[in-house]
Amino acid sequence: MNDYDVIVIGAGCGGLGAGALLAHQGRRVLVVEQSERVGGCCSTFEKQGYKIDLGASIIEFPQVIDWCFQRMGTTFAKEVDLVAIDPVFSAILHDGTRVSYPISLEGTAKEIGRIAPGDVKGWERYSKKMQGFLDAALKGFFVSPATNLADVVRLFARTPALLKYNSMFFGSYEGIIRKYFKNEKVVESLSFHSFYAGLPPALLPGHFAMIPYAEHGGIYYAKGGMIGIPKGFQKCGERSGMKVKLNAPVRKILIENKRVKGVLLEDGTEITAGIVVSNINAKKMYLEMVGEEHLPWLAKVGLKSYTYSMATPMLYLCLNYRPPLEDHHTLMTLPMDRVNAYWNDHYMKGSFPREQFGILSWTTKSDPSLAPKGHHIIAVTLAPGVYRLKGTHWDQNRQALKESIIQYLSDTYLPGLKEHVVFAELSTPVDFEKRLRSPEGAIYALRQDLPHSMMFRPSARSRHVRGLYLAGASTHPGGGVPTVTASAMIAADLIEKYEK
Ligand SMILES: Cc1cc2nc3c(=O)[nH]c(=O)nc-3n(C[C@H](O)[C@H](O)[C@H](O)COP(=O)(O)OP(=O)(O)OC[C@H]3O[C@@H](n4cnc5c(N)ncnc54)[C@H](O)[C@@H]3O)c2cc1C
Repeated sequence: MNDYDVIVIGAGCGGLGAGALLAHQGRRVLVVEQSERVGGCCSTFEKQGYKIDLGASIIEFPQVIDWCFQRMGTTFAKEVDLVAIDPVFSAILHDGTRVSYPISLEGTAKEIGRIAPGDVKGWERYSKKMQGFLDAALKGFFVSPATNLADVVRLFARTPALLKYNSMFFGSYEGIIRKYFKNEKVVESLSFHSFYAGLPPALLPGHFAMIPYAEHGGIYYAKGGMIGIPKGFQKCGERSGMKVKLNAPVRKILIENKRVKGVLLEDGTEITAGIVVSNINAKKMYLEMVGEEHLPWLAKVGLKSYTYSMATPMLYLCLNYRPPLEDHHTLMTLPMDRVNAYWNDHYMKGSFPREQFGILSWTTKSDPSLAPKGHHIIAVTLAPGVYRLKGTHWDQNRQALKESIIQYLSDTYLPGLKEHVVFAELSTPVDFEKRLRSPEGAIYALRQDLPHSMMFRPSARSRHVRGLYLAGASTHPGGGVPTVTASAMIAADLIEKYEK
């Protein structure tokens, strides 16, 4: 008899969500995690009395996460202490203009009208179109498997309304935004959201242009830090007997007769199970843990052709003053053309300039208990920064880079910052790789353009190894806490169907 029915590799939200659902189905589940805590990109670490979010700083589409909890007889709100965020975000534009978009659609129309009266109609048309798209997409796209062409045909057949929006899949994020908004300031305020899916506005598929609208469906922070969400999955799973083993890196997936038979940990321990769910980067998993000897040549070619998603450095600021911000999320934006130019001139060429754009996530605004009394935390998502810098290395520059970014933020978006830093930590793409074993520091596993989407993304049910399933950012529907939760539901459904 095997040690477990299912081994899940990786305790990210996708892995824990899948593990919890499978335990709820009555299976004996073990989740093995290489680091000392659960949550992966959606985790929180403690340092000197501050609770700092490693990556994710809000969630959109709470209903998708709720569906997962509901399958286990509970709700998102019962398992995780959530803080609603309103305004959904504010932005400090490059010329210093400030905008703040409340959750209400009418309030946002009013704010757009303040800077560009001519774009209010555009906002109304955009909202209507995105709501229609989301109504169709949420029914099918997010929670249906896309393991092959037949699945995708079935997905569209089940939700024919999606076909009405086919131009959104083929156009670009920029094209959709520019179709509805003419004023450059409004366009700028909606430019950074394309990086929520990992590409600049000119290169990201158009359907992601629903992101700034989707936030108006409600965005939330988890009290105590974003790790509350994976911990919510862990609690549910443990109630059904799921076990979580930390500090247990997996070296190999054991395979016999083209079927998984368990995993080999780096310390030499073998654990057996008839089903393995991988929650880690799929390209790395197949090429290093399964091994090329178990893959047909075409699969090897396909896997090697996948591009990792973008990397982005983070600066964690722990402060002894109240920063001059208003909202949980403040975007530091550039005009859309400059964002696209940044990608070509800096990211693709391996440079990381001092001038920054990105997100200021002021987490203590939503939960003051994260820091000592009167102190604050801002997790800064900096501009995308490629793993391989040209002519230098992230580690070589760490201190100088940190100081120059703090100086830049002090001079621009956060006056007074420099005098109030208790400590600051720069997390580079190399650190991300070390911390989470995420190759090249990729924050969404694989790129999220059309050649890496749906049936082209690694399949939730392996085509090459029986008993091997995928949950997490590497598989459909891609990166983001709600989407990896959707992938957990898809994996659990496929296992229920194929692994009686
Ligand atoms: C900087 C940043 C900001 C983000 N902001 C947001 C946001 O605001 N909202 C949002 O919804 N999403 C956001 N995301 C995306 C979101 O956090 C991720 O897409 C999602 O959390 C990924 O979940 P996952 O299940 O795919 O696994 P991951 O979180 O990638 O977890 C995988 C786990 O596998 C473990 N692992 C790796 N190798 C091994 C091994 N060999 N053996 C055992 N374990 C292993 C890792 O340690 C890790 O814990 C952000 C991501 C980043 C990086």
